[in-house]
Amino acid sequence: MKILAIESSCDKTSVSIIEDGEKEISTVVLSQMDTHASYGGVVPEIASRMHIENITLVIEECLTKANMTMNDIDAVAVTYGPGLIGSLLIGVEAAKTLALIHNKPLIPVHHIAGHIYANNLVKRLEFPLLALIVSGGHTDIVLMEKDYSFKRIGGTLDDAVGECYDKVARVLNIPYPGGPLVDKYAHEGSDTYDLPLPLNDDSYSFSFSGIKSAVINLAHNEEQRGNEIRVKDLACSFQNRVVEILTKKTMKALKEYNVKNLIVAGGVAANKGLRERLEVLCNENDINLTVPVIKYCTDNAAMIGAAAYFAYKNGAIADTSLTAKATDTLK
Ligand code: AMP
Ligand code: MG
Repeated sequence: MKILAIESSCDKTSVSIIEDGEKEISTVVLSQMDTHASYGGVVPEIASRMHIENITLVIEECLTKANMTMNDIDAVAVTYGPGLIGSLLIGVEAAKTLALIHNKPLIPVHHIAGHIYANNLVKRLEFPLLALIVSGGHTDIVLMEKDYSFKRIGGTLDDAVGECYDKVARVLNIPYPGGPLVDKYAHEGSDTYDLPLPLNDDSYSFSFSGIKSAVINLAHNEEQRGNEIRVKDLACSFQNRVVEILTKKTMKALKEYNVKNLIVAGGVAANKGLRERLEVLCNENDINLTVPVIKYCTDNAAMIGAAAYFAYKNGAIADTSLTAKATDTLK
């Protein structure tokens, strides 16, 4: 089954053709990052306008790259939410139009299900599994007993971990999105700053607003005292705390739910510090760890096409009444 999938929930206009939820035929990702970078973050109004300008071109380019026409496609899938409402609407309307004109089934996909199924493009998911979803908008631990069945067992109470990285980066004068450079600096610095381990308790909840404020206050205090901030050391201290709390609670959940498969998803899954620590811990505890290749970590339509196949098998079909949802729980 060949599915043409569309993703436009934030600042990437992306279209992909995926076969049977696991084979990538072609993917096009048009990132708006450079435009938003000058504002220090994604500007929703600009994002939706850029999606409008590019969506048809990206669909055409993806089909051309695959050497296919819509006649070769069995279904159309789209991210319906969560995300920026104006951005989502463009993808949803494009998908509805394509499905209607070409008389194809329309499959609605939850964005986070997409991030999880990015791993199915690497290796077939094995159940039961725990998914650690770490992105610019989400930090969740999800239990899956079978395909397209999701149970959220924990997550952030405030900022998402990627959002926290980007805000810390801003204080350190690192351009948006700061995650990758903070990660790089963290590997070049030493853990010499005294930062708190955020929400270090027995729950599966996370809280990143405290450590974010701690970094901001520390930077301001040093500035007022005329002291230079050791950016690489601060990046290292910050990353160590974040990685420690994420891995500590994830490993605890694996043990409590007696699960031997762990997958990581979302933009922060690209973080080298997190990958390295999880590799060590999973090795020690006999856990099968799967992380997506970097290109499938940040938003893309390939992951949506992979998830769509299993959503469809699970009965997820929409009609032209499908609407975009800015917020929606994964279930
Ligand atoms: P997403 O929301 O899934 O598109 O992911 C984007 C988020 O991932 C942004 O907040 C980035 O700063 C963050 N990110 C990307 N690469 C890294 C990295 N290597 N370390 C930490 N955060 C990262
Ligand atoms: Mg995302």
